[in-house]
Amino acid sequence: MTTQTENIIDLYQRHVMPTYTPALTLIRGRGTKVWDAEGKVYLDFSSGIAVTNLGHGHPGVLAAMREQAEQLIHVSNLHYNRPQALLARKLSGLTDGAKSFFCNSGAEANEALIKLARLRGNATGRFEIICMRKSFHGRTLATMAATGQDSIREGFEPVMPGFVYAELNDLESVRRAVSERTSAILLEAVQGEGGIQVATPEFMQGVRTLCDERDLLMFCDEVQCGMGRTGQWFGFQHAGVAPDAFSLAKSLGGGYPIGAVVARPALAEVMAPGKHASTFGGSPLACATALAVIETIEQEKLVARAATVGDRFKQALATKAQRFDRIREVRGRGLMIGLETDRPVKQLTDILTGMGLISIGGKGNVLRFLPPLTVRDNEIDEALEIIDDALLEWHGLSRDGEETDNATT
Ligand SMILES: *Cc1c(COP(=O)(O)O)cnc(C)c1O
Repeated sequence: MTTQTENIIDLYQRHVMPTYTPALTLIRGRGTKVWDAEGKVYLDFSSGIAVTNLGHGHPGVLAAMREQAEQLIHVSNLHYNRPQALLARKLSGLTDGAKSFFCNSGAEANEALIKLARLRGNATGRFEIICMRKSFHGRTLATMAATGQDSIREGFEPVMPGFVYAELNDLESVRRAVSERTSAILLEAVQGEGGIQVATPEFMQGVRTLCDERDLLMFCDEVQCGMGRTGQWFGFQHAGVAPDAFSLAKSLGGGYPIGAVVARPALAEVMAPGKHASTFGGSPLACATALAVIETIEQEKLVARAATVGDRFKQALATKAQRFDRIREVRGRGLMIGLETDRPVKQLTDILTGMGLISIGGKGNVLRFLPPLTVRDNEIDEALEIIDDALLEWHGLSRDGEETDNATT
């Protein structure tokens, strides 16, 4: 290890709260590639957790950022700003004329969704939101309560009231959770942190119908699966349904922090002046960046590309999986792909990283691949070769399939 890497790690350990357990020391990126402080290159199939959807340092986005930064970085929302208006119009065009509220992160976007549900429901005593088990909605007090994973809430009790849970893809469980207090149903079309759990179109359609019947709001958390990642602009489009509102963040700014709530116009009116705000939300720089990201996705036809490249990658992984008995399932949509195994994947992600491929381990037994939508065909091939080698090593097999005695468990 060079002294540069050691210094960074040392500074971290002395001065950064121990919230994270970082692996690499990354200092530079271009396209799908990133370099660590040692000069070693990696294929970044994590995209900073579905954030850098255009890869690192996309020239079009950099140019837009530079131009806007020179012009005007920030004004408060006490004043109009042009990039915010243009980005809202763009999101409106991608939906059915929806209106947007801008913030800075996924948790904040979901907070705004929750406040929207409370504002609309409270007049009639309806405040509860039905969320799915294994979901992830953020780490603030409200979004942590919405998150369907007990481990996230541990130590932060009392948990904020107003959230009940149902099973993804089990419409009956959702039906049972509805009461006279219910205001909304919140779900991810493809659960990311929950291990790439794909909501079936029938389930999404069933939730939509249930919401219509009971006058409930259907909310989608598109923070991870939105903006083209699944091969549609938004994950819910695979089911041909439209939620009443949805949240965006992660890849919206291609790496620059920005979040948004996008709501159908009548619902958007609930957010009357003074009801919600964010100092940084919708700043000229953030919005100009997000606008450039969306225009680039359109120009380079990356939504369709995510679908075709993702299918090829997933098929290749599924074929590979047949040879490896620790793999249980390969699933996902577009370039949001999970590989479920019969044991924790930490060892496997470490092997992959060592071989130059960055994936996401996460909890449980699901390895996630979230390459940028700009990933090249040869980079997919290169990744597949690395995955092959890594799986062989993890299974303790040699290249010709013979067992070796160094399987890692
Ligand atoms: C990451 C994520 C969030 C939280 O976003 P932050 O920007 O970390 O607050 C919320 N929902 C989903 C689906 C996510 O993947």
